Amino acid sequence: MAVTEAVPEVAELIELLKYPRNKMRDNMDVRFCPHAAFYNPVDERCTYCHQGMECKWLNHNDELVANEAKPLRDFRRELTLACDYVEAQLTPAHLSRRACSCDNCKWLEKVRKVLDQEWS
Ligand SMILES: [Zn+2]
Repeated sequence: MAVTEAVPEVAELIELLKYPRNKMRDNMDVRFCPHAAFYNPVDERCTYCHQGMECKWLNHNDELVANEAKPLRDFRRELTLACDYVEAQLTPAHLSRRACSCDNCKWLEKVRKVLDQEWS
């Protein structure tokens, strides 16, 4: 590996968005969504929807969004949200496990390392 740079590569950040994106998509129930999971800020059903966080996040971070043009502070905000989301999925039994190597923990470890650096 090259000399450690304080600023992560945008490609790395985009890569990190993939895991929570797939996870949220899999977990979302769009059967009752009137907008096919496209967040609509003027519809109050969206404001009060229990899936509002996932939905907004997905609409900000899907493959159709020009992620590479995002300012770094946006990546930090989106990754922090995604981090909270994945953490909330962990069961208590699971949290006590040390050096767990499930997909959630592996991703959390990677993203925390990136977020711990001062880049934005
Ligand atoms: Zn785990």
